[in-house]
Amino acid sequence: MGVRGIWKGFGGNTADPEDVSDAQDVAARIAAISDSDRLIMLDRVEDAQLAWFWVTDASCRLTYLSAKAVAQFEARRPLIGEPVSNLLQTICEDGNDESVKPMSYLLSARSSFSEQLVCLKGEENTPGGRKWWVVTGRPQFDKRQEFIGYVGTAKDITASYEETRRASRLAEYDALTGLANRHRMNGRLAAALTSSRMEKRSCALVMLDLDMFKHVNDTLGHPAGDELLRQVAQRLLRVAPNGAELGRIGGDEFQLIIPDLDDRGTLGDSANRIIQMISQPYSIEGSRAIIGASLGIAIAPYDGIEPAELAKAADLALYAAKGGGRGQFRFYSNDLKAKAENRREIEEELRDALVTGGLEMHYQPQVCGRDHVVRGFEALMRWNHPEHGAIPPATFIPIAEDSNLINALGDWALKRACEDAVEWPGDLTVSVNVSARQFLNENLPETVRRVLRSTGLPPSRLELEITESVFMGDIGSAESMFARLRKLGVKLAMDDFGTGYSSLSYLRRAPFTKLKIDQTFVRGCVQGENSGSAIIRAITDLARAMNMTITAEGVEAMDELDTMRNLDIDLVQGFIFSRAVRQADVMAKLNSGQLRYEPVGPSQYRAERRTLYRRVGVVHGDHHYVAMLRDLSRTGARIEGLLDVPIGTDLVIDLGEGQIVVATVRRSQDATQGVEFETPLVSDGGGGLCTRHRISPYRLASVGMPLQALPSGTHLAAEVTRGNGTRSRPRFLQVDVGGSASRAG
Ligand code: C2E
Ligand code: MG
Ligand code: MG
Repeated sequence: MGVRGIWKGFGGNTADPEDVSDAQDVAARIAAISDSDRLIMLDRVEDAQLAWFWVTDASCRLTYLSAKAVAQFEARRPLIGEPVSNLLQTICEDGNDESVKPMSYLLSARSSFSEQLVCLKGEENTPGGRKWWVVTGRPQFDKRQEFIGYVGTAKDITASYEETRRASRLAEYDALTGLANRHRMNGRLAAALTSSRMEKRSCALVMLDLDMFKHVNDTLGHPAGDELLRQVAQRLLRVAPNGAELGRIGGDEFQLIIPDLDDRGTLGDSANRIIQMISQPYSIEGSRAIIGASLGIAIAPYDGIEPAELAKAADLALYAAKGGGRGQFRFYSNDLKAKAENRREIEEELRDALVTGGLEMHYQPQVCGRDHVVRGFEALMRWNHPEHGAIPPATFIPIAEDSNLINALGDWALKRACEDAVEWPGDLTVSVNVSARQFLNENLPETVRRVLRSTGLPPSRLELEITESVFMGDIGSAESMFARLRKLGVKLAMDDFGTGYSSLSYLRRAPFTKLKIDQTFVRGCVQGENSGSAIIRAITDLARAMNMTITAEGVEAMDELDTMRNLDIDLVQGFIFSRAVRQADVMAKLNSGQLRYEPVGPSQYRAERRTLYRRVGVVHGDHHYVAMLRDLSRTGARIEGLLDVPIGTDLVIDLGEGQIVVATVRRSQDATQGVEFETPLVSDGGGGLCTRHRISPYRLASVGMPLQALPSGTHLAAEVTRGNGTRSRPRFLQVDVGGSASRAG
């Protein structure tokens, strides 16, 4: 029988159904195949690339390899005589899969292996790139059962293997930025949380959302938006903490998974670095753009155990960061849920207040630093809520900005302020705050023109106060808005200079007539090492060179006023002269003919202390007391509720939600103690303070609580420190701290 016939027997493409109908007949025919026919058959198999063959000697050096397989090695190196383990490597050797054994191990075991995925060593950088084979090997033994080498087959599967890899890459990575996509990040988060839970470790999740990205997309176009996202991804890769997994989970949202990090001081520093980095200007297809970033941070197991729970917590924190005015970070805390609901309520009620007349404009004088004569007033919005009383603009303006209500609110404020200002005598100016959202509205110049015409206020008496955030987005469109507004004849002031994305370069880009130095600089001027006044001097020199007037905001104390006078500041605005007052009060003052304001205030600014009144837990020995916390600062606080605690006593204070501080009593009188914290508190990103570390839910689980995210309340320290039932007498007498205070127990 010829090769053709045998081949038919193997189901080759010339097979005749009748020839293979009888299995016994086939077996008989195969048995009858001569050695030379077998060789011909092997040649056919090799030629058809159905399989290649390889043979080694007893030391596993290659003695034969099919010619077409040799060609795959680019025929650049000798193959015969080479150890097979120098030529082929299994995928464990490039660190992909540790469950697979290396080639040298497989061969030295002298057992069979089949369908082993290998790649050709040293061929990665050839034009064809990596090549992938599946190999099968069988050890061969002589009559005395001595190992004489391997015989095996190999097959090239590069094309299909690369295709599978490409498909799985597509499914896992974001095509635009190359970062992990939402699908992959979900998987990574689940894996990270499972392993951190097993090892009782922590894992931080950071949600990041770009501020003003939509604006760039709208003004510069989608290709520019895409380019911006790519650049953001590059910057994030540079600043992401070591060991962090970074992904883009949609639109302008990014996510970081940071295993083994629960120090909120370190996380806050990282968050600030990321915000700084993202906020630097971008150059995109010849245009310049600026965007910002808001970050929400949640940490497992404290804020959530399961992936969905942790992600929800980080989302809420992000929402709070955006609500806080953007360009900020926030840690998750239990009260954010209530706050998020509260925001929706405020939005509704603010809408009502606008139509039902619940809003008012108040006016704060801007006074000449030399003669204390008023030169104008800043219009500040006030909302007197029927139930909650006065709600500060710092709370409701960001909510209005988020809901687009800001345009209606801003139009109303502008109109009311101009109506009131025409009543003022002389050339007193009115300064109206314009939020970044309003500034982006194409119709703003038209609105201003209409209001000026309808009220009859000369444009030179209207000043628009704008913050640096208007430079966010595409700088070109900001510049053209400035030009349109200036053409109307109104003045432009840069508000809050020195906060946020401060950059002197903005000053050159806009025709500002005034620069308002933020309160934080005024404070810094008289406190500490006085670098504040050097900074203010530099800013004022620059502003003067550019023909701008300078206003200092938030002057409260005499020493601050003195400093401003020494620095030759043109205008001063602050409680030292007056708070913002109603139009009726402004008119009364102006009608009296007295345009001078007398400074009234403390001789020195009192260092800021947060006068919180908050219930906290205090643990001493095995006793749990209740106290009121006052004047919280980074390094200490005042507590009220325990009688006659000696100086030097160490207490454990439970600030709530697992925040425990060890504190030493430094001052003590009756039921009030001044305590110093062993470890200073850190910023919570929202102007508040928090502890770096919290009690771990694993720890709580070890004393019998269910493993869950930290609950609200100030009982956890007591839970952990609770003894084994035997109690000593309480050392201190618990006094009433308002309402339901109980005796120590
Ligand atoms: P701003 O434009 O920087 O206004 C100055 C803020 O500093 C006012 O707070 C004012 O009451 C406060 N201030 C003035 N002097 C002192 C002082 O001596 N000490 C202290 N501690 N504070 C002082 P207010 O009225 O709460 O407004 C907060 C922010 O809300 C404003 O900051 C402004 O950004 C925004 N805002 C207020 N009204 C409007 C409005 O009609 N439209 C827009 N878009 N934003 C507004
Ligand atoms: Mg202002
Ligand atoms: Mg300001």
